[in-house]
Amino acid sequence: MPDVALSGKVALVTGSSRGIGASIACRLAKSGVKIGVNYNTNQDAAEQVVANIVASGGEAFAVAGDVSQEDSAQAVVKQATERWGQIDILVNNAGITRDRLLLRMTLEDWDQVLDVDLRSAFLCTKFVMPQLIKRRQGRVINISSVVGIGGNPGQANYAAAKAGLIGFTKAVAREVASRNVTVNAVAPGFIDTGGMVGQMTEEARQQILSRIPLGRFGSGDEVAEVVAFLCGKGGDYITGQVLTIDGGLIA
Ligand code: NAP
Repeated sequence: MPDVALSGKVALVTGSSRGIGASIACRLAKSGVKIGVNYNTNQDAAEQVVANIVASGGEAFAVAGDVSQEDSAQAVVKQATERWGQIDILVNNAGITRDRLLLRMTLEDWDQVLDVDLRSAFLCTKFVMPQLIKRRQGRVINISSVVGIGGNPGQANYAAAKAGLIGFTKAVAREVASRNVTVNAVAPGFIDTGGMVGQMTEEARQQILSRIPLGRFGSGDEVAEVVAFLCGKGGDYITGQVLTIDGGLIA
């Protein structure tokens, strides 16, 4: 059902061809938000997300671009702005993992993850922010991770990027609060989107499930619901926060 606070707004969701980003794109579209579905390589999947949104009565278009690179991040923001006239909501969701223990981690593993998971958020936020400040209204949501709060062996690069996103969120939130722009992060725990969690052995799944108080993995839709809350009226007075969505994992 369209949401009065969100209906007619425009969101750019980075990395929304699949997984959590696709869930966020579809959930915001359900509230009447027009969506720029950004992807890096997976055009078919992005077009499918767009088709699903349009079939449900929403508006969306696919916008290709590697948001870890300055020129393409700028081009993605420009295309989304031109398509819908403006951007009101930026969801920095694009992310990758390159897991290895520290002693085996290459500089390339480190740089790739820091570039896609952290630098992209800096670039997209920097390119979107002038219009949010000008209109004295806007939302930025950064998709961090509980790994950025508690660490995880084999993920030094990912943990550093996701912790970096939290610092970035708090600093920028303080910079732009006087312009009525809010900046928040969500920190999902284990979300079963068919990626990392879906590929685990049954033994690994059971071991992790035993550590989650709610006794199950989360879904992309559950992350999307929290993002929609922060983007809507409920988020009006919330900024600089990190909301964990982890079934109690790090409680
Ligand atoms: P996913 O299924 O692997 O999807 C990643 C998305 O990011 C895809 O749409 C991919 O596009 C896009 N992407 C990758 N590199 C990009 C780039 N350079 N430029 C633009 N888009 C790029 O990931 P996910 O599991 O849904 O995770 C989404 C976010 O949530 C990530 O930031 C992740 O760190 C975070 N998170 C996930 C979990 C979890 O359990 N799944 C937990 C905590 C946090 P293509 O399809 O074109 O490759």
